[in-house]
Amino acid sequence: MFRAEILARINEIIGRSILCQGDQAMKHHLQTAMLAVLILGSASGLGAQHPFRGSLLWSVLLCDYTDSPASPRSPADVRDMFTTLGTDGVADYWSRASRQGIVSNRIEVRGFFRVNQTVAVATAKGRWDRFNDCVSAAASGGYTPPAANGIIVMTNPNIDLWGAPGRAFAAIDHDVGAFGHEVGHGLGFNHSFSDDPTYRNAPWAQIGEYGDPWDVMSYGNVFGRPTARFGSSPVGHNGPHLDRIGWLPRNEIVTFGGDGAASHTYTLTALHDATPGGIRLVRIPFDPGDLFHYYTVEFRMGRDQDTGIPAAIVLLHEVRRGTPGDPTNTQYFSFLMIDPTGSRPPRSSLNANGVTVSVLGIDAVAGRATVSVTGNIAQRCLQGFVWREARPSDHVCVTGAVRTETRQENQLAGSRRSPNGGAFGPNTCLQGFVWREAFPNDQVCVLGASRTRAASDNAAAASRANPARFVFGPNTCKAGYVWREADGMDYVCVSGATRDDTRQENALASTRRSPTGGPFGPNTCLQGFVWREAFPGDQVCVLGASRTRAAADNGQAASRVEKP
Ligand SMILES: [Zn+2]
Repeated sequence: MFRAEILARINEIIGRSILCQGDQAMKHHLQTAMLAVLILGSASGLGAQHPFRGSLLWSVLLCDYTDSPASPRSPADVRDMFTTLGTDGVADYWSRASRQGIVSNRIEVRGFFRVNQTVAVATAKGRWDRFNDCVSAAASGGYTPPAANGIIVMTNPNIDLWGAPGRAFAAIDHDVGAFGHEVGHGLGFNHSFSDDPTYRNAPWAQIGEYGDPWDVMSYGNVFGRPTARFGSSPVGHNGPHLDRIGWLPRNEIVTFGGDGAASHTYTLTALHDATPGGIRLVRIPFDPGDLFHYYTVEFRMGRDQDTGIPAAIVLLHEVRRGTPGDPTNTQYFSFLMIDPTGSRPPRSSLNANGVTVSVLGIDAVAGRATVSVTGNIAQRCLQGFVWREARPSDHVCVTGAVRTETRQENQLAGSRRSPNGGAFGPNTCLQGFVWREAFPNDQVCVLGASRTRAASDNAAAASRANPARFVFGPNTCKAGYVWREADGMDYVCVSGATRDDTRQENALASTRRSPTGGPFGPNTCLQGFVWREAFPGDQVCVLGASRTRAAADNGQAASRVEKP
């Protein structure tokens, strides 16, 4: 990349959402420091990516200063928090959020390393200087993080909290929530927003930013629950964020209108219910000009990841491009929809853009909500087409030019009929004209070519209607790629041939396992086969070349989605 391109990208990222507690005065300083990060990132694959499952490759560096107080946590505590399942720490948080798609056992916790300055001196420094001082102290102490690793600096005492792609800065006593949020930035999550124009979390925040207490990317404005050892554990992610990173199985997501229906009643399962199955997210497209712009509906209640939320509730989000403070941003953000009346609670019902949503009932015991949705997306035209409107109810999709001509035909109709009637009654056409027959009994008199065109437009109507058929969400593949579908939530985009191979591998799996088990348990492969490892826990036995291909495809996953 040329320097100018890099700077443009840095500005995009900084403007986007890196800073959790930043301000504009930091921006220039960040630009300078970010250069090194991005150049490194381009080589090592750090930074924003979706879909993503795999190992968190992080080095956690514990640093203190010459006059630091006694540490409230030992390195062993931090190691448990980040890497040991069953401790209710950060490792558990990410494992649950990703349905075991995120593995934390390769996180390295090192330290304490002593930064040879006082807390006051460190506090007065810039953010990246403080970060780099700790990295240098670790190097002096004999530890340099592998180039592929992200780096989390944790200091005793607490002097700052921020996250950037592949980098985070926190304190020894920060809670699970802080790392749910900052590691989230490391995985490429953006902040969540509300659409409340009166909400401003902090002077440096954009309007609406951090306005979704049901999403960890609004931390510290989120619900949480206490843990025994590691402070508060936050709510899970909202539906759009889970969808974006690929942690909702395909069969738990529905796109309204995709089947052509104009109304539907859905029974929603709580978004973070740990038992698989049920509908967790409904996308409701309404914008034929942007198939990534839609509403979503989800049901949240106080169980599993969401134990800390106060009450069962149906939430609506709008997913759209840009933010109030950065309208030219090309990324898509989630906006919790707010009822602008009263105490401005989240909205559970909606009537906008041809869409209605209403909650029919919530069964907090069963963990279900019933929601009714209506909308006209199935009748709308694909981009480039409009309703013909030969009569008001004529919703056949045609080009704009054809609609214009159709209007002219309707205006000229009287002048093209025989004033005395004729063989076909009062609507008998003058010589040279015929009935258009765009719909039954359409007796507007037109040229023969126009009648032919109306018939062919009618025949093409289905293929030009219903943009919802083409709404596949944030992991929509670029042209030429399809989802691999190694399992129900594999959104990695691959060639059609690779998907075919993958299906066949799944079908052959049992024949390639050792029938008597072996050193790797019941999934031990027969001689000549290895685990595919397309995602953590993928123990389908395949040829070595197939495992290599799966790893390579995973490495390309972020570059093959249509909207980064
Ligand atoms: Zn943040």
